Amino acid sequence: MAARGKKLLKVRRRAMFKHSKWGIRRDDQVQIMAGDEQGKIGRILRVLPARERVVVEGANKVFKHVRRSQQNPQGGRIESEAPIHIANVLVLCGKCGRGVRTRVRLEEKRKIRVCVKCGTDID
Ligand SMILES: [Zn+2]
Repeated sequence: MAARGKKLLKVRRRAMFKHSKWGIRRDDQVQIMAGDEQGKIGRILRVLPARERVVVEGANKVFKHVRRSQQNPQGGRIESEAPIHIANVLVLCGKCGRGVRTRVRLEEKRKIRVCVKCGTDID
């Protein structure tokens, strides 16, 4: 996977979004707040800290063209989700019905994410 390593280097710059502060985890419901897919709601499939990106189910679909191979004797196009930047998604608050910023509340040394707007627990 040499090509992938090269790509990673190209994308990497000074880390502006510290992963531990994202407040977004796998399987979270999030809303996309900017870009072509603004407003869309989906589940986080993957988190890519090094690239400051996440993969959201059903969002940012791309076709990957694949060569013929053992596994894929026909070749062709595979549709999949491409990562989007962390700054463009927010955790969905069930009560507000939209993406919201979160803060953290401590309860018996456990961190619980809370909606900034309405104060509802998200975890
Ligand atoms: Zn809320």
